[in-house]
Amino acid sequence: MLADLHTHTTASDGLLSPQELVSRAKEAGVDMLAITDHDTVSGVTAVAEAIPEGLQLIPGVELSANWRNLCIHVLGLNINLQNQTLLNGLQTQQAVRQERAVKIAERMERAGFKGVLEGARKLAGNEYIGRPHFARYLVSSGQIKDEKTAFKKYLGQGKPGDVRHGWPAVEEAIAWVIAAGGSAVIAHPSKYKLTNLRLEELCREFREFGGAGVEVVSGFQEPELTSKLARMAGRHGLLASTGSDFHRPGLGWADLGRASPLPAGCSPVWEHW
Ligand code: AMP
Ligand code: MN
Ligand code: MN
Ligand code: MN
Repeated sequence: MLADLHTHTTASDGLLSPQELVSRAKEAGVDMLAITDHDTVSGVTAVAEAIPEGLQLIPGVELSANWRNLCIHVLGLNINLQNQTLLNGLQTQQAVRQERAVKIAERMERAGFKGVLEGARKLAGNEYIGRPHFARYLVSSGQIKDEKTAFKKYLGQGKPGDVRHGWPAVEEAIAWVIAAGGSAVIAHPSKYKLTNLRLEELCREFREFGGAGVEVVSGFQEPELTSKLARMAGRHGLLASTGSDFHRPGLGWADLGRASPLPAGCSPVWEHW
């Protein structure tokens, strides 16, 4: 069973439309696909009724949330797309994103860049706007050489454009997912630059707040990291999830269905649905 439970479409910061993503997943031999756009379900809702035979679609979302002044991503998997508590939460997230975009733009203008808000908004095109749109604008307008540099110098964790404005607390994000009948999962736990001790604390609190699991595998990763996260999940009674965090074709190691397999002994989150 090939599961990929973390992917993005043009509804957030992915480059493939929901239809294109589904076709690519089918071609890649994925059996179970979750579409988990940032703070919106419009992409997965658009394709929910048009899934090819043999592919199981799991409705999902990736929520931005605040944990001890850090932005943590919470996956909501197997959610009811019509749940009003979740939809209200997502509406708030969109408003937060619009206000935050203005602040990001102000900071980038202060750093000397031009036309930032308008440029990023044009690339975003819909209700979702995020740092990747700022990175893409700065590159396409010739003000920065590539997106990697844009994040490294200006938009990444701890840099001026990393505005942590208004995200809900992790427990609130978990509550929205639970209200929608879904499983809340800590996304890419190794990306937050947490010490082992703090990561343990995050897992413990996440479980206490009603969270269900953690991404033991996120994209291609070293076997040592996979084993460490599998043990951590076990210690905290968290189920295991896996996903590529696919955003665009062309990055072979992060392509659909290409994440490392879950280690034996893990309890996969989908076995509880
Ligand atoms: P936002 O939702 O506005 O906070 O933007 C977060 C998104 O930016 C992530 O989901 C990634 O797709 C992208 N991102 C974050 N950090 C980096 C990075 N260092 N390099 C490239 N993309 C990144
Ligand atoms: Mn993203
Ligand atoms: Mn994420
Ligand atoms: Mn993601």
